[in-house]
Amino acid sequence: MSEVWRLARRFWPQLLLLLLLELLGAGLAVLAPIPLQTALDVVLQKRAAPAWLVPFSGSALPALCAGSLLVTLLAQGQGLATALLSTGLGQRLIRDLRARLFAAAQRLSLARHIERGTTDTLYRIQSDAQSIEWFLLDGALPVLTAITTLALMLTALFRLDTSLGWVGVALGPPLLLAARATRPGLKAASRDAKQKESEALSIVQATLGALTSVKAFGIEDAQTQRFAEASEKAVKVRLRIALLDGLFGMGIQTLTALGTAAALYIGVAAAQRGVLTVGQVLLGLHYLNQVYSPLKTLGKKWASLQNQMAGLERATALLTEPAEVPTHPNPTPLPQPVRGELRFENIAFGYDPRRPVLENVSFTVAPGERIGIVGETGSGKSTLLSLLMRLYSPTSGEIFLDGIKLTEIALAELRAQLAVVFQETVLLPGTLAENIAVGKPGATLTKIEAAAKAAQLHEAVQRFPDGYQTKVGERGAALSGGERQRVGLARAFLRDAPILLLDEPTSALDATTEQEVLSAMERLMEGRTVLLVTHRESALRGMHRVLLVENRTLVAHFPLP
Ligand code: ATP
Ligand code: MG
Repeated sequence: MSEVWRLARRFWPQLLLLLLLELLGAGLAVLAPIPLQTALDVVLQKRAAPAWLVPFSGSALPALCAGSLLVTLLAQGQGLATALLSTGLGQRLIRDLRARLFAAAQRLSLARHIERGTTDTLYRIQSDAQSIEWFLLDGALPVLTAITTLALMLTALFRLDTSLGWVGVALGPPLLLAARATRPGLKAASRDAKQKESEALSIVQATLGALTSVKAFGIEDAQTQRFAEASEKAVKVRLRIALLDGLFGMGIQTLTALGTAAALYIGVAAAQRGVLTVGQVLLGLHYLNQVYSPLKTLGKKWASLQNQMAGLERATALLTEPAEVPTHPNPTPLPQPVRGELRFENIAFGYDPRRPVLENVSFTVAPGERIGIVGETGSGKSTLLSLLMRLYSPTSGEIFLDGIKLTEIALAELRAQLAVVFQETVLLPGTLAENIAVGKPGATLTKIEAAAKAAQLHEAVQRFPDGYQTKVGERGAALSGGERQRVGLARAFLRDAPILLLDEPTSALDATTEQEVLSAMERLMEGRTVLLVTHRESALRGMHRVLLVENRTLVAHFPLP
């Protein structure tokens, strides 16, 4: 929650103004019935005029009417100003929180990200983040105003008649008891509902993301069924919330009815005894009603406040989550220029601690050396590269770059030394040119074209009607597997980093294109340290050494055949 206050603090002048406006509204509500009461007592019943009316004694009725109009107009103005201010403020609060959540979500470690799932994070950014507006502006602020209004109205009631005041006070404790009884249940149920809704949504997301397979295997109905079942669970929780909320509201309404009946009895009896005027009885009933209204607000806002709190807790949990792999507080700067010497020392790693993927992996790569890495599928080759990128942290052992532990190098600086072609190139929404420029943000179109040419992608791009400005669909849906792979290669060509990590860079290409890409790559590899994972012997040409990953470790280093 401290994160919420930190965000809110930046907007304190607006929040304060909003609070003042709300308090003005409460004050106006006290004034609103006074003209009617005065008119009844002074004009009709000919009682003594209060001091503030004396200057208008000749025309008391028109003055009272004008006063009544003025109070109403002020109240309208206050309402408009409040609405405008709170909408603007609310949207800005949400925008700021969303931006912070998005940044935090990208820093989140891959392991946590996979464990939690994209949809849950999405739900937190999209849906839970809105809670900050509701919590502060629709929840906390009205509750604060309601409490102030309550105090004002009770004071007004006591000044009018002590027994009427006590009727108002008597409503407080039962209300608080009712709130206490429902609060924990509501909050827990809200958290539960959000969790269940996000689970249902993740089925939609996963299904739409894999729509080709879903259609090909004909499991649309089964997926719909799964979604319906997951949604039904959320519906049940929402129903429980509505029930709790409704019970609470019913309690408030009963209290209101009891209070009104008591006030009517006490007020009219007092008027009969001549203690109160007719106008004052009316005023008393009005104020008592104004006591209920903040009580009702408190009651109504209660459920939503609990709901918003659950949402805010989910959202801000993302902010306090440990970011990525641990970063060193005082990173060691890399020597310039980076030579590109790599050393793995007794590396062990498993995605799941119960199932080690790599054990006892030790090897050294000299600067400028080209290493081929082979091994059967699932043996841990891609994992080896992930560890080098520090996408994951090894369970034990150390990796060194130019003699410096990776853990002591600033993450951004380490990754700036690496050009990577992933086993599967994932495209971002945007144009082809933008997607190649991922390799070097801000690269000119000339450089982008040169990289595409080196990756044998240029001709293919020319065949698209929009060329480099072609928009690629979600996950690169508009490109063939081989085209996507060459976008990955073009990124590496553009990046111009001292260390090249290539994971099956030619697996999706035909033999001719592969040869062309390999000879272009020959130039790219010049003077750089290269780790190339492949199942294809043809791609190993030009490597200085080949390492074999087998039984969770590197078993043989053999020179090229
Ligand atoms: P391939 O030749 O098929 O690409 P690989 O040698 O690159 O295989 P890795 O991707 O390194 O294999 O995977 C090594 C092992 O780790 C596999 O058994 C795989 O099931 C497991 N693995 C890979 N990624 C994850 C992950 N994100 N979470 C859990 N386990 C994983
Ligand atoms: Mg792999």
